[in-house]
Amino acid sequence: MSIRQKLLSKIKGIELTKNEHPKKVSSYFGENTFGIETMQKHISKSTLEAFKAWLNEGKTISMQQANEIADAMKNWAISKGATYYTHWFQPMTGLTAEKHDSFISIIGPGKVVEKFSGNKLIQGEPDASSFPSGGIRATFEARGYTAWDPSSPAFIIESTLGKTLCIPTIFISYHGEALDKKLPLLRSDEALNKAAVNLVKLFGHKNIKKIFSTCGPEQEYFLIDKNYYNLRQDLLLAGRTLVGAPSPKGQQLEDQYFGTIKERVVNFMFEVAEEAYKLGIPVMTRHNEVAPHQYEFAPIFEESNIASDHNQLLMELMKKVALRHNLVCLLHEKPFAGVNGSGKHLNWSLADNLGNNLLNPGETPEENLQFLAVLAAVLRAVHLHADLLRASVALAGNEHRLGANEAPPAIISVFLGEQLSKILDMIEKGVKGKVSKRDIIDLGITRLPKFNKDMTDRNRTSPFAFTGNKFEFRAVGSSQNISTAITMVNTIIAESLDYVAGEIKKASGSNKDFSAAVMQAIAKIIKETKAIRFEGNNYAEEWIKEAKRRGLPNVASTYEALEALVDKKNIALFEKYKVFSEEEIVARYHIWIHLYNLTLEIEANTLNEMVNASVVPAGLKYQKLLSDNLAVLTDLKKGAGVKLDAAVVNDLKEHLADVSSKIYYVRRNTRDMIKLLDKAKSVNDEKRAKVYYEELKPLMEHIRRHVDDLERVVSDESWDLPKYREMLFVK
Ligand code: ADP
Ligand code: MG
Repeated sequence: MSIRQKLLSKIKGIELTKNEHPKKVSSYFGENTFGIETMQKHISKSTLEAFKAWLNEGKTISMQQANEIADAMKNWAISKGATYYTHWFQPMTGLTAEKHDSFISIIGPGKVVEKFSGNKLIQGEPDASSFPSGGIRATFEARGYTAWDPSSPAFIIESTLGKTLCIPTIFISYHGEALDKKLPLLRSDEALNKAAVNLVKLFGHKNIKKIFSTCGPEQEYFLIDKNYYNLRQDLLLAGRTLVGAPSPKGQQLEDQYFGTIKERVVNFMFEVAEEAYKLGIPVMTRHNEVAPHQYEFAPIFEESNIASDHNQLLMELMKKVALRHNLVCLLHEKPFAGVNGSGKHLNWSLADNLGNNLLNPGETPEENLQFLAVLAAVLRAVHLHADLLRASVALAGNEHRLGANEAPPAIISVFLGEQLSKILDMIEKGVKGKVSKRDIIDLGITRLPKFNKDMTDRNRTSPFAFTGNKFEFRAVGSSQNISTAITMVNTIIAESLDYVAGEIKKASGSNKDFSAAVMQAIAKIIKETKAIRFEGNNYAEEWIKEAKRRGLPNVASTYEALEALVDKKNIALFEKYKVFSEEEIVARYHIWIHLYNLTLEIEANTLNEMVNASVVPAGLKYQKLLSDNLAVLTDLKKGAGVKLDAAVVNDLKEHLADVSSKIYYVRRNTRDMIKLLDKAKSVNDEKRAKVYYEELKPLMEHIRRHVDDLERVVSDESWDLPKYREMLFVK
């Protein structure tokens, strides 16, 4: 029996004790977070006021006040059983990082007390030398600082034997450059705030103090049994299967999507949600996704910075809880060939401090006008900077989705839905003459609210779709930290909001009627950005041709997509809006290209080992079975005179030849692959990424095809690698 077959009999869920009375979520939601409400109970009124002013008005707090908050936070954490604390940050690897310190402080020989000062709360100094900096920091300049982000509540992470207080922070270099993903996001929200507040003022909203982006990331993922995972070097090291014949039954019957959730899986989901609720993560929706053993979690949307922290935490929780259930949660964008990959739909909108959603079409013509102005800004932003959106989702894992015959395509376009498209078309045509409020009404704009609920049909294929009162950026990868994508969306839209405000002001100069001036400005933008709008099937061949005619970029490779980051006009944009300095964005370009190369090198070396240590030996075993059998048959025919049909012997011979040549090709191509890796060492990162994309990836695919052919014929007994049908269907 193969190891794999032995394992099959052991696959089962863990025994769980029945939970007769699950707690009401509202009774414990956020209990492990130190939010404003908890803080309020532990600090003085004046310090609380100072803290709020810091948060909302950018005022600073005194060290004394910081000490008071730190002490309160420590006491709260200790009362909940925490013994360690850490600054929790998001370096450019895309993961989260933490360096734990105990609360203890020595007060005399052999004596300690628990202490935590404002200083330690506000600032930390982990050794930064092993985090990627993209050349921002020379290796000998090891210092990096973490600084408290008070807008995201501190939280407690529980493990079986203890608890740790985590304090969300940004991460910067000795000279103050951003070394993380959070700081640029905060800066982009600042830019967006300024531009948006400025724009709504034109519409008479003088009392709006703050506008920020909101975000609800829908998280897709796969689950597989831990035993299978441990037997697959590729899943363990690369997060995706590098070989593996597709199961004859995949997703073609569409019987997984929204299907009944298997008990083993739903138990996992219950536990993830419970852990998430304790941390104040508002997990809302859960369901089966399209591919077998693929699922989704979606939260209620929040302010982007919080939503982003929460998504990072949720991913960590999912991985942790899955292990408790003898499962492994796969967040890779394409763990299995031939079935859907996983993405993260980034639902994005703008909200003001009074609770209004700026992408809500509204109830009155005035609101409609403002809505249309914001919409025009979004269209212009995507039209002008589709390259940056594409760059924000460029990574090795996502390359298997974008531009590789999978949802969504690498061509960025916007879907608005029939109603809205009609309205925009009318504005574009109707505006030529005079425009008054009546005309606007005649144009049908006041009918907008009626369509509000389901104003748009669903278009599942569009990478940037308007879905009623928000946009959905669907190209983000499932494993990604969403900060970068949000940062890009915020920045390009901030710039366009400024542009729209400028155009409205310009039009107001020549047009006394404000509504007419707005319509004039919007009509111009609608005309200029038409190429970016597409309502059809984004997966169709015709769209690729059509997009080319329209001059829309279609960048399939990661290394080319990333080039947008260092484009002169884009660097100028980032500097103007103070989101990245030139040095910071160039650093990111280098880091992400380098990460791409490292990922492919890990994959290729893993494939090499799998082929040589698992696949070829299994093939040779089978080859021996065939040749022994052939020898026996030949003997029987010759020696014992058994009347064997020539076709029988020939068939066996052919099969043996076929298997032998497959083994040969697998070995030969693998040797070529190693030579290629060696050759690529002599060129720089950018060139290497190109070689990997153009030569290494096709070679790996080629090897895989032969390996998968072998898997289909080699006896089940000799094949130790868990097969697709088992990983995806035995639950
Ligand atoms: P779908 O049908 O598109 O899969 P889901 O209900 O799964 O929709 O997810 C929609 C997501 O959009 C949720 O996370 C939701 O909170 C989020 N969302 C709704 N309104 C907004 C908004 N104004 N800003 C940002 N995200 C939003
Ligand atoms: Mg959904």
